[in-house]
Amino acid sequence: MILPGAMLGVLGGGQLGRMFAVAARALGYRVMVLDPDPNSPAGAMADEHLQADYQDPEALEHMGALCAAITTEWENVPARTLEALAHHCPVRPTGEATAVARDRIREKTFVRDLGLATAPFFPILTSADLDSAVAGLRLPALLKTATLGYDGKGQAEVSSREEAHAAFNQMGAVPCVLEEKVALHQELSVLLVRGVDGEVEVYPVGENLHRNGILHTTLVPGRVAPAMAERAIAMARAMAEDLEYVGVLAVEFFLTRDGELLVNEMAPRPHNSGHYTLDACASSQFEQQVRALCGLPLASTRLLSPAVMVNLLGDLWTDGEPDWSRLLAQPEVKLHLYGKRQARPGRKMGHFTLLGSDPDANLALALSLHKEL
Ligand code: AMP
Repeated sequence: MILPGAMLGVLGGGQLGRMFAVAARALGYRVMVLDPDPNSPAGAMADEHLQADYQDPEALEHMGALCAAITTEWENVPARTLEALAHHCPVRPTGEATAVARDRIREKTFVRDLGLATAPFFPILTSADLDSAVAGLRLPALLKTATLGYDGKGQAEVSSREEAHAAFNQMGAVPCVLEEKVALHQELSVLLVRGVDGEVEVYPVGENLHRNGILHTTLVPGRVAPAMAERAIAMARAMAEDLEYVGVLAVEFFLTRDGELLVNEMAPRPHNSGHYTLDACASSQFEQQVRALCGLPLASTRLLSPAVMVNLLGDLWTDGEPDWSRLLAQPEVKLHLYGKRQARPGRKMGHFTLLGSDPDANLALALSLHKEL
């Protein structure tokens, strides 16, 4: 076990690293963040902010020498960085788990090989692959870049062979997946944490509402039948076990109108749909990440109250800082802002979580509070 007082490293300086740093420091750990941005949200909360490139050999040497264990908040940290650091200290989750999640082709193949369902898909490496994929799928379909896509970026909906080729070329003919567009009833997420000894703790299944491909709202508990929630949990668990995963893992699901439960994607880290755990659970996903990283026993995932989390995107800053007065006047609302200096449309600037015993009333009030902003 790595005990409080030790230095923990985080690769990536965004809001996930920030909330990890706060949780780690609350437990008495010291935190070092590696991120080249001098204004990174996590750097501001760290004991030490290494402002260097993710592949800077001196920075990695320094980090490896001083940290007792290292985690990532970003799956696009280069694999070689994770390997280099793993020579010095435990890196959790491992570079291998991160590599599977980083690449949609590997990720979807991994899920399918485990016998779990995904939307029908084909890997696309060449335009010839695209022709056979279009013939083998029902259109419309979504063409998604295999790597570096997030929040709906690097995706295009295509309804014909011609549109598929145009989109592929527009994306620079990089590796992609072509995936059938399924009729969604709901989007769900399972958030779990797996410890070094294989112990698994699971949070209640959340229901996610997206706008323009970006997560907008998470409701907990999700409005889903208990048997369906159990199925989703069993699927996420199977993925974590197979990867011998250590840390917080989020798995996003599609529940189709036909009642099929499909794995959409996984995130090898705390996830936006788990931010409600900061205020609504006995322990947060960030504390669990600290515990798993350090080999401590896992903590309780118990839900203290139904909750709704709403993201605050940069669009709200178009006319300057939003007026927080009504939100702050709500006694059951917790506001979290990430300290980002620049607001851009679609950029995640913060979130708020509303607690309350009536899930329907929670959703209505949360959406109206957001609308007023
Ligand atoms: P992703 O980045 O792949 O999670 O996609 C972002 C969002 O786009 C998802 O949360 C869905 O709302 C939507 N989406 C992605 N793939 C599909 C699909 N195959 N069928 C229907 N909707 C999808």
